[in-house]
Amino acid sequence: MTSLLKSKANMIKIKTLAEIEAMKPAGALSKLALRKAGTMVVPGTRTIDIDRVVESLIRIHGATPAFKGYLGFPASICCSINNEIVHGIPGEGVVLQEGDIVSIDTGAVLNGWVGDNAWTFYCGTPSAEDRALCEVTRDCLYLGIQEAVVGNHLGDIGFAIAEHAEKHGYGVVREYVGHGVGHDMHEEPNVPNYGKRGRGVRLQEGMVLAIEPMIVLNSPKNETQTNRWTVVTADKGTAAHYENTIAITKDGPVILTADEKGATCPMEGGPDRSDSIPEI
Ligand code: MG
Repeated sequence: MTSLLKSKANMIKIKTLAEIEAMKPAGALSKLALRKAGTMVVPGTRTIDIDRVVESLIRIHGATPAFKGYLGFPASICCSINNEIVHGIPGEGVVLQEGDIVSIDTGAVLNGWVGDNAWTFYCGTPSAEDRALCEVTRDCLYLGIQEAVVGNHLGDIGFAIAEHAEKHGYGVVREYVGHGVGHDMHEEPNVPNYGKRGRGVRLQEGMVLAIEPMIVLNSPKNETQTNRWTVVTADKGTAAHYENTIAITKDGPVILTADEKGATCPMEGGPDRSDSIPEI
């Protein structure tokens, strides 16, 4: 789940190697929940049903959904369709349609630690235009993660993301950003999807960050719907959103929202139903 950009006075909470290890089960469960959600992205699915399945999956593992009740958010997943950028609310009457692109964000709290990840899934076959947007946004995520190394700066992450998106003519959402993750879902620092090389907080071992590019087809101008949550593009253009929680280590970034083999949400946009959902 994204954080609204604002300045906070709190300090960045550096994690020890043992704490990073302790965060992995929450990350793995968040990823498992996301994969499960992805398998349900087919025409005719009600998004409320995805929400219920994900909530059950998280609770069966002895965890709690990180989003449910967070600042009053009413659901366990965010489900943002087409022109919705982030924080879409699942509903009884929200039925997925052929060709939709569906950004789902899942988070779990396990043993007091949070995991947070998101993926834009294809419902059936999206337009070539939407598929390209998704592929570029996914690449933005991994380009950003590559910059999350000791000695770089926060601005290097944002720069890499924005440069790649803008090179393709896409818009980069400014008002919502990635964030630190730990015992709380939204810790310091803000992790914007734009920035200048060499600027911002110096990255150091033990920082745990949710990197989450929100990239739109056209203008990044956006508005929040009357439900106070769902953020949509002002021009109704489509939007994509991919997220992993990563830890910065001396050996480079480690994705925490991954299974024990290091695999993240692997469906490359569309659900692969031949691929069984692994246990964690
Ligand atoms: Mg997040």
